[in-house]
Amino acid sequence: MELRNYQKSAVQSVISHFKESNESAVLTLPTGAGKSLIISKLSQLANNRVLVLAHVKELVEQNSQKFKYYGLNYSIFSASLNQKNSSAKVVFGTVQSVAKNLSNFNQKISLLIIDECHRVGKEKNSEYLKIINYFRLKNRRLKILGLTATPYRTDLGWIYKYHYNGYIQSEKQTPFSKCIFDLPISKLIREGYLSTPIQVNPPKDRYNFNTEDDLYNYESLNKQIEQSPRITKAIIEHLKKIAEERLGVMIFASSIQHASEIHTYLGNESYLITGNTSLSDREAIISGFKNQNKKFLINVSVLTTGFDAPHVDLIAILRKTESVSLYQQIVGRGLRLHPKKTNCIVIDYAANNHDIFQPEIGKKPKNPNVKIVQVQCPICGFQNLFWGILDPHENIIEHYGRKCKGININQNKNEQCSHYFKSKECPQCGGTNDIAARTCSNCNFQLIDHDNILKKAYDLSNQDVFVCAGITYSSAKNGIFLTYHDENGQEFTEITPQIHTEAFHEFFKPYFSNQKIQNFSDFEKYFSFMKYPDFLILEKRKLKWVIIHKIFDYVGLKRKANQI
Ligand SMILES: [Zn+2]
Ligand SMILES: [Zn+2]
Repeated sequence: MELRNYQKSAVQSVISHFKESNESAVLTLPTGAGKSLIISKLSQLANNRVLVLAHVKELVEQNSQKFKYYGLNYSIFSASLNQKNSSAKVVFGTVQSVAKNLSNFNQKISLLIIDECHRVGKEKNSEYLKIINYFRLKNRRLKILGLTATPYRTDLGWIYKYHYNGYIQSEKQTPFSKCIFDLPISKLIREGYLSTPIQVNPPKDRYNFNTEDDLYNYESLNKQIEQSPRITKAIIEHLKKIAEERLGVMIFASSIQHASEIHTYLGNESYLITGNTSLSDREAIISGFKNQNKKFLINVSVLTTGFDAPHVDLIAILRKTESVSLYQQIVGRGLRLHPKKTNCIVIDYAANNHDIFQPEIGKKPKNPNVKIVQVQCPICGFQNLFWGILDPHENIIEHYGRKCKGININQNKNEQCSHYFKSKECPQCGGTNDIAARTCSNCNFQLIDHDNILKKAYDLSNQDVFVCAGITYSSAKNGIFLTYHDENGQEFTEITPQIHTEAFHEFFKPYFSNQKIQNFSDFEKYFSFMKYPDFLILEKRKLKWVIIHKIFDYVGLKRKANQI
């Protein structure tokens, strides 16, 4: 089995990476790139034991089938495939079965391959992490490789930190360390490995989503669609016409109700799969669709991964998606090669306006005019890709980038370039900070704009500002009553959390710089060292006023109590 050139490059990048490093790595490959061939080749090349994980049995089957070609020994560990054999040098398993039976894996493995690795979350008790930790304990030089088409998750962000093109993808904690290979879908199409997508504009009748609402929120989107049955009907009429000359049509609906509605308009010509469809029904439907018994297949976000019907040559998108890579995955369902098709028509009735070929660069700002723009860093020269706005001559008017993503190698360590495109200067030390920083990274000074908070509280009818001039206290049953006094003789009393609790200790942190306060006697002892807040922001909740914010160490234009 000869690998394609880019598949060889992907394999080579894995070998070179793990030769030098034990850091976990990710291959980003679009649907249709032949992931299972790359997985088999790597499993064949590995010197020691390999475990290949997938979240569904279909992928376990697919990956092991490709490996079979090499004529090497392998085994399958998956309850849903009725096989639990962990003896071979290469084991293909489902995550659930392996996590539940780790004691069946006594020997150490050298390579752990995780298919659809964007599913590896950050939860400490996830099945993936359980497996990773188990094998890391057996072999601290364990190599972990993930493969995915969608390395960016709208809920958790990027799944890796560094990109091999020399930039930082995420400053947060990520499940994987580095993306070592990234294949654009356009390359696969150009080289003839995928069918060409043709974007057709929908007619006037399409969903005019109210952009004020959160369109990515299932509930509000659903409401809007339910309120427009006339439009759904018109869309399906239009789709039927386009479909006359087509072999197979996949429709991506917004909700189960929406999908059922579409199903009633298409009747006997269509299959319907939702999250409620039983596994056996689903298998029957998929094989019927692949045999082209019916032309239309309607689904609700269940067939975005791992489903493969090469004859599909029309994709109709009737749902919103915030994620470019999810959008590309949907389109990818129609890009498989098939002898009877020349291209794949894509109609986006939900006006997502994503570009099929656009690289994923993270969360898109709400502004509808944003495009991807290239911004060079004045310090390190790195060409950053950010969301931004262009004028008619393609000059950048503004961009949403904050910090340069370039990497400087400093004493063999990756260090992110320190340039901020938008920054906040610290009034105390003059250092530059991220525009959203709350404290100075240099001197810990609070960077929140106090005057803004005060102005808002003065303006809002349900908020008020209490100018604090002093504090008195008395002991309460399990805590302490603190009474704040202003210069006009008004007072406001609150009770602290229960003594000896973490909450009590946390409560007093801003009041004392060095002393740890755990109970009433600590408090009395250090009372004279206590600083008090300059302002309290109060908010009316039902009939009661509560403190929602305390401003300590105020710097700004307002006059504090006791100040001339
Ligand atoms: Zn830079
Ligand atoms: Zn500072």
